[in-house]
Amino acid sequence: MIDFSLIPWWAWIVGYLLAAWGLNLLLKRFWHWEIYGPLAMWRTSRFNAMLDRFAHHTNFLDGFTKLALVFGFGALGFDYLVREKWSMQRRVIAFVIVTVLLSAFFLVSFDFLLQNPIAKTNNDWLALFYGVGGFAFFILATMGNYGWFIISSKLAGLSACPGVTPIVPGVEIPGVPITAPAHAWISFVIILAIHEGMHGVLLRKAKLGIKSTGLLLAGILPIGAFVEPDEKELKAAPKDDQWKVFVAGAGSNLALFAVLMLLVGMQPLSKDTPSVFSQLVYKPFVSDWREQTYNASISHYSVGETIEKTTLCGRDFANPAFGRIDANSTIVSINGEALSFAKPLPIRPNEETTVELIEPDGDRVTKTFVANELGRLGFTIETHYTNPDQPFDPAFQSYLQIESLIANFFFWLILLNLLVAAINFVPSEPFDGGKIAKVVFLPYFGWLKMPEADSAKLIGRLFMWITAIVFLVNLLPFVLG
Ligand SMILES: [Zn+2]
Repeated sequence: MIDFSLIPWWAWIVGYLLAAWGLNLLLKRFWHWEIYGPLAMWRTSRFNAMLDRFAHHTNFLDGFTKLALVFGFGALGFDYLVREKWSMQRRVIAFVIVTVLLSAFFLVSFDFLLQNPIAKTNNDWLALFYGVGGFAFFILATMGNYGWFIISSKLAGLSACPGVTPIVPGVEIPGVPITAPAHAWISFVIILAIHEGMHGVLLRKAKLGIKSTGLLLAGILPIGAFVEPDEKELKAAPKDDQWKVFVAGAGSNLALFAVLMLLVGMQPLSKDTPSVFSQLVYKPFVSDWREQTYNASISHYSVGETIEKTTLCGRDFANPAFGRIDANSTIVSINGEALSFAKPLPIRPNEETTVELIEPDGDRVTKTFVANELGRLGFTIETHYTNPDQPFDPAFQSYLQIESLIANFFFWLILLNLLVAAINFVPSEPFDGGKIAKVVFLPYFGWLKMPEADSAKLIGRLFMWITAIVFLVNLLPFVLG
């Protein structure tokens, strides 16, 4: 057996580059791939016929791109669609109504995007930004908000996590508390293929040329997919064709997000997830059996170690149970509920939590703590199995492993897909949103009485500066720590 943990990180990189180089030589020699250093690019026109086939569904694609524009650019996107048909009065009323509806929709559906235990946010304001300008404005507003948090933290001598980070599945990034698992590469490929494919379909619907489609590899890892339009043709195309081509990519990711949430949900293994799988399969047929089988192997739970403080993003959060609870005490209940692996612990941030314990000397005690901002009490829970040598039946053990892999796969597929959608609505180039902004915001700049091309340039510059500033501030913690 090789102990992989003994291999230093630089050896991994050198090894990987060598493997990539070898693979690239093969790809070039036998399949005529283009090679750029460690990157290999596969160009083909074999998908063009497939794109053409999808492009025939013109009514569907029109509806789809309009919806994508409204969800991506909010009330401003909606106003763009009706600006020539409706009177000014009607447009203003519609603008207000759409803003309110979208804001409410956002608060309900994207609640999890608004949770941040450290940087306090005013969610109503962020939702309002979504209502007015969709993901395009929401991303800038959240990043602006978090950027302000970073600056005020630094001024107060505190540290903060960066607000934007490159995501490399399987690679832990210093200063970033979450790491995407290695299998998320598969998700990336699916997400990018759908995104680029839909750009392609809309290009073909507008009868615009596609030079090639392809895949970009770094070694064995696919890092990009692309549809290469005929740039000249696209620039000369009617505005309505242009924004549809650009909105279709992120729009397809939003659509995939909606479908996956409906079918599976981000937490497929919870009875409370309002998805088809969770309600029609998991809840009636799996969850009780799984919980009973699991619990049958458990003798009891105990307090493992107690922890003085939890550190997140360079900040310390004192734990209330430290020094007030004995290790090895048996946990009878938390907030009156017996522990079960099938449900999350009933502990909420800043709320009182009652823990019933049997201490090592046999005393039965009840202790009350106020959980900290992270929702932690500050002790680990140790599981004691009836049969410690083989806690579970091997078949059940394998089942649990497969189940957790599938659940984890969907969690990251859905999360990354939403991130790719959201980031592509950022209204500045090089993101698709930058191209859309130049078309959609143009009518509002008419009062300047400038030639259209100049107005578009002005919009590009304006959002480029806003975007560059918020991105740079959000990256500051990588530099300052
Ligand atoms: Zn795109």
